[in-house]
Amino acid sequence: MNNENFLKELHAFMQSKGFVYGPFPELYGGVAGFYAYGPLGKLLKNKVENSVRNLFFSNGFRELECPTVLPDIVWDASGHLHTFKDKIVECSKCKAVFRADKLIEEFTNKEAAGLKDNELLKEIKKIKCPNCKGNFKEEIKRYSLMMKTEVAGKPFSLRPETATVTYLSFKRLNEYFRKLPFAVFQIGKAYRNEISPRQHLLRCREFTQAEAQLFIDPKEKNNWEKYELVKKEKLPLYTSHHQEKNLKLENISLEEAIKHKHIKTKAYAWCLFLAYKQFLSMGIPKDRIRIRQHLDDERAFYADDAWDIEINLNSFGWTETCGVHDRIDYDLKKHSEFSKQDLVATRDDGSKFIPHILEIAFGTDRPTFTLMDLFYEKKEEKEGKSMFKIPYNMAPIDVAVFPLMKKDKLPEFAKKVKELLEKEFVVDYDENGSIGKRYLRAAESGAPYCITVDYDSLKQNDITVRDRDTEKQVRVKINELKDKLQTGKLTELF
Ligand SMILES: [Zn+2]
Repeated sequence: MNNENFLKELHAFMQSKGFVYGPFPELYGGVAGFYAYGPLGKLLKNKVENSVRNLFFSNGFRELECPTVLPDIVWDASGHLHTFKDKIVECSKCKAVFRADKLIEEFTNKEAAGLKDNELLKEIKKIKCPNCKGNFKEEIKRYSLMMKTEVAGKPFSLRPETATVTYLSFKRLNEYFRKLPFAVFQIGKAYRNEISPRQHLLRCREFTQAEAQLFIDPKEKNNWEKYELVKKEKLPLYTSHHQEKNLKLENISLEEAIKHKHIKTKAYAWCLFLAYKQFLSMGIPKDRIRIRQHLDDERAFYADDAWDIEINLNSFGWTETCGVHDRIDYDLKKHSEFSKQDLVATRDDGSKFIPHILEIAFGTDRPTFTLMDLFYEKKEEKEGKSMFKIPYNMAPIDVAVFPLMKKDKLPEFAKKVKELLEKEFVVDYDENGSIGKRYLRAAESGAPYCITVDYDSLKQNDITVRDRDTEKQVRVKINELKDKLQTGKLTELF
C-alpha cells in the first residue's frame, strides 16, 4: 500500500528544493507521467548515471548511443507493435481508464502481475473508480504502450526500450569487437504511452533507461571466468521453489544458487551480481534490497530466466528498480527473420551460431527517486528542519561555502575559496541569514561539508569544515583543502 502522507511530503520537498518539478508542464496544468529535473535533481541523476557508467566500464562494457525514433518494422520484429499492451478497465460512469493490474495492487494489496482476464475482473469488481467512485465495466481491453509518430509519411514509433535498438547494430558490433563475448550499454530516453500513471518518477511516459547487453555463445554461458571471482558473494534471493507462489527470501551465495538450480548459468549469475553491486555502491542499505525471481506466468515472452532487483521504498513499498533477463536468441532470430540478413557469429572452429543475449536493464529515474525516498528525513516537529542524508558519494552538492559575516572582507575571501573549489567540485555559496539557517539549507540539499570563512581565516589562511552527519568541525589549511576533499581524507577527520 502506498504511504500517501510521506509521498506528499517528499513531493513537496522535491519541488521546493529544486529536485523534481511536475507533472510537467506545471504552467499549463501538467500531464501525468512527465517530470523535469531541477538543478539539484539533475546533479543527483548525473551521479546515478555516472555510477552506472563506472560499473559497466570497469567491467569491460562499451557505451553506444542510438536513435530514439525508429520505423515500425523494427517494432513488428521485436514484438512490441502487437504485444506490448496493457490490460485496462474503463469506469462506466466517468469513462476514466486505468491499468487493471496496478489498480488491483493499489487498492487490494494483492500481486496482480500475470493474472488472467477473468481473474483480473474478479478483483476489479471489488474496486470503485478512484475518480468518481463509480463501477468499472466488466471488460478488459488492450491498450498499446507505443508512442506513434510519422517520418517521411511512414509510420514510426518512439522506442519503448533501448535494448531492441542496441541489437540492430549487432553486425557492426561483431565486426568491431571481432569475437564474442562482448558487452555494450546505452543510457538514453525511452517512451511508453502509460495509461494514467500515478507513481511519480517510478512510472513516466518519458524516462531514461540504462540497459546493458552481453552477447555470448550459448555454449559459454557456464564457462564464465568472471563468475569465479564473485561466486562466494551472498545475495538476498527471493526465490520461487519449483514455481510455487510463496516466495522465500534466502541470503545465499551465487554458488549455492547455481547448485540448487535457482539460477541457470554462471554468466547470468555474474550479471545478477553486477546489478546488485550497483545498488550497494549507490549506498542503498542491504536490508532494503531483494532479488526476486519472476514466476513462469509473469515472465516476458522473450525471457528464459528473469529476476528483478526490488527496493523497499518508504513511499511505494517493494519496487522493481532493475531487471536481469536471459533473452536467449529471441531478438537476433526475430531481426534476422524480418531484415532477411544473417545475424550470426562464428566460432574458432568455423561453426556458425546465433548468440544469446543477457540483459541488465536499469533505468536512471527510479534509482534517483529511490535515493530521495530513502534518504530524505522528515521535518522534525520541534526543530522544524528536514534533512537529505544522501550517502556522501552520491550527494548532488559536494560542499557549501559561507562567509561568517557579510562584511569585513569575509565574503571576498569566501568567494575565492568557492572559485578555487568549483573547478573540481559542485559548490554552493550562501551568505544570507544566520550561519545556523545556512547549515540547515545545506543539509536539505545533502551537501556533506560546509566550509565557513571567519576572521581567523584572513590571518591564518585556513577555514572551518563542518561534517553534515556528525556536525563536528575541524580547521583545514586552504592549500590542503582540495586534496583532502578529493582523496576522501576529509572524512577521516570526523
Ligand atoms: Zn469514474
